[in-house]
Amino acid sequence: MVKNTSINTLVVSSYNGDQHNASVAPLYQTTTFKQNSLTDMGEYDYTRSGNPTRTLLEQKLAKIMKAEKAYAVTSGMGCLDVITRLLGPGDEVIAGDDLYGGTHRLLTFMHKKGAIKLKHIDTTNTEVVKKTLTKNTKMIFLESPTNPLIKVVDLPAISKFIRANYPNCLIVFDNTMMTPLLISPLDYCDIQYESATKYLNGHHDIMAGVIAARDPKIIQDLYFVINATGCGLAPFDCWLLLRGLKTLSIRFERQQQNALKLAEWLEKIGFKVRFPGLKSHPQYALHKSFNKGFGAVLSFETGSIKQSEAICEGTAIFGVTVSFGCVNSLISMPCKMSHASIDAKTRAERALPEDLIRLCVGIEDIDDLVQDLEQSLVNSGAVKKVGNQLIRQYTSKL
Ligand SMILES: *Cc1c(COP(=O)(O)O)cnc(C)c1O
Repeated sequence: MVKNTSINTLVVSSYNGDQHNASVAPLYQTTTFKQNSLTDMGEYDYTRSGNPTRTLLEQKLAKIMKAEKAYAVTSGMGCLDVITRLLGPGDEVIAGDDLYGGTHRLLTFMHKKGAIKLKHIDTTNTEVVKKTLTKNTKMIFLESPTNPLIKVVDLPAISKFIRANYPNCLIVFDNTMMTPLLISPLDYCDIQYESATKYLNGHHDIMAGVIAARDPKIIQDLYFVINATGCGLAPFDCWLLLRGLKTLSIRFERQQQNALKLAEWLEKIGFKVRFPGLKSHPQYALHKSFNKGFGAVLSFETGSIKQSEAICEGTAIFGVTVSFGCVNSLISMPCKMSHASIDAKTRAERALPEDLIRLCVGIEDIDDLVQDLEQSLVNSGAVKKVGNQLIRQYTSKL
């Protein structure tokens, strides 16, 4: 064993301890395991409680997430369901006001039922977070950078403040956008979760979520809920996720390179682009101070809803699709798609531009991606091509 093995190597590792030395982890497609005797259940008895393929996946995840323990469940939202079950009736909870739409939906649902007392605040403003916390705050939900507005939360500063002043408040961090390659959130939070539907699996062929922690009591409580509710990831999906993980590092490296190039190219044409890797991003330095990269999701505004629609529908390589993290490049209009469940008034309050286009960049050849976007920008009328030059056409009409 090489000491301090890099995460790039850990993700590829095919260790599985198989009795026949299989090169690839075996798939235990079984719900039950025969017992040695009526009283000796052995390590596994029933797949809701545990399955060897799931164990292999969770061991690998724990290593790359620098966790004591990681759990694989049926979706990113499944993670949130498990985590919120650690709360008691009426517990005080703080959440960012720009969290993933599904997170907002579940937390608000619980709040309306009286299950929790929820405060949505601007967590990108650390002073607001400090003022909102009280002795009774049981959990805080953070996400950085947010999507599609790409707002950065000062996780290290918030974590330091909470640990010094409110040690009973659990910090929960959704790391779907950055993956364990760019940050080890457990250095700052108590519970980390990610939608593995996105980058971790990378191929948009399974739904999955992963939860990780270091504290033994939290680990035990999370396992209790997963076993009790039966949301552990199915063996075949665990097997697919193990396969997907092997290329995480190389996929994400190319996706990030492509995303940065596209962000710079769009900005040069004259669009307002949101991407934490652009020096023009107001929180570029903050993001860089605790992340090793910038991810592969960016958004830009055209100034015209009609043009934005035409751009999305006019691409050939970029598919009009919700979600992100796939090897294929995707394009969407959040206000019409992923964020349509947030009503127009709230979208306006959060300054979510109706003409915003989100790009989730894949691993294709960058020249092809540029060419695809270029023809769509020109056909939509947002850009005019004169010789080799792309000239932005401004329109004041939304
Ligand atoms: C997609 C997503 C989720 C939800 O994950 P699912 O696997 O779709 O349930 C949670 N948080 C973020 C940031 C996401 O992008």
